[in-house]
Amino acid sequence: MTCRPPFTTPPRPTAAAALPEPLAWIEAGLEALRRDGLERPRRVRVGRQGRVVELDGRALLNFGSNDYLGLAGDVRLTKAASRAACGEGFGSGASPLVSGHSSTHAALEAALSDLLGTGDALLFPSGFAANAGTIAALVGPGDVVFSDDRNHASIIDGCRLSRAAVAVFPHRDVAALDRLLAATPARRRLIVTDSLFSMDGTIAPLSDLAAVARRHGAILMVDEAHATGVFGARGSGLVEASDTADGVHVRVGTLSKALGSAGGFVAGHPRLVDWLRHSARAWVFSTAHPPAVAGAALRAVALLADEPHRRTTLLGKATAFRDRLRAAGLDLGDAAAQIVPVIVGSADGAVALAARLADDGLFVPAIRPPSVPAGGSLVRASLACHHTDDDLDRLARALSESRG
Ligand SMILES: *Cc1c(COP(=O)(O)O)cnc(C)c1O
Repeated sequence: MTCRPPFTTPPRPTAAAALPEPLAWIEAGLEALRRDGLERPRRVRVGRQGRVVELDGRALLNFGSNDYLGLAGDVRLTKAASRAACGEGFGSGASPLVSGHSSTHAALEAALSDLLGTGDALLFPSGFAANAGTIAALVGPGDVVFSDDRNHASIIDGCRLSRAAVAVFPHRDVAALDRLLAATPARRRLIVTDSLFSMDGTIAPLSDLAAVARRHGAILMVDEAHATGVFGARGSGLVEASDTADGVHVRVGTLSKALGSAGGFVAGHPRLVDWLRHSARAWVFSTAHPPAVAGAALRAVALLADEPHRRTTLLGKATAFRDRLRAAGLDLGDAAAQIVPVIVGSADGAVALAARLADDGLFVPAIRPPSVPAGGSLVRASLACHHTDDDLDRLARALSESRG
């Protein structure tokens, strides 16, 4: 099979007609984003994710993907996807409860349940849907969700969707959470947190959270999106690495990041998963993702067992890289993983730094509000196992020089 990028880049739309009157307000909204340095242009990638990525015609060293294990462009996933598509067709054709749940999906759910050791697992079309659907299935009016103030947007939206009250606690502040729980009686209480925070690279204090949840009789739900495949002896995430599986009731992960595929999943007690199959609307009312996607993910899960060096190499390099940047005086906050933010402050400053890095051949995206709080803009380097010492050296030097 020769694989070439399928499309040449189409011309970008030029001057568009004026907006229809009922939408005219959008012009002012876009203008405000431009003024605040919050406009978000999209780049066209040609070819695969990997160590080097071609964006808008420029080949750049890639520090801007969640492809932590280098699997997104791995031909073994492509072949596994092709095999699944050959056997089961491309489209899944229906929601899982009707006829969309293929044998490839079933095998993947079993593999994820084995990987996490939970007894059962449920696939969602995306990690976003997994969070939103699960929170809304577990709590409702009269209940309270306790949510870390840096949680991912899909958790925030899940909280809103549930119509439960939401008590936001300061980032990783278990004492504040403890006080909030003591002061907030409710029918059901759900604590929800990312395990590895996507913009800050910080790690949740999972064993302390589990202890607080236990003391207050609360449900503990942990979103491992950036930790799935990267942390833990078996690669299942930070719950495994912190030995807190007994205290975490709901484990969410994604297949879209380190596993190089697409989709999300929830793993937990079989009766919990049974409940979600009846009440998570984002699961019940959405078409199963294609069997090819599940086939690729299944191959990636097998690679976690066969090629553990991918994650161990990555974490070793990430630790050395963070140490080096901190020694050079850069502010990484409490980053402790393969996500390495360099905090700039202003949105304009972050965009300017990202542009200078791109001029040096380095793709390191600027992260601005609403992904981070106002004044907390940063450039975010996502390390992957395929980065060489030389690549990291180039990035470290470019970032250190940028301080001057
Ligand atoms: C990316 C992400 C998700 C969403 O996962 P997708 O599979 O990309 O929809 C959920 N939670 C966190 C913390 C994430 O970073």
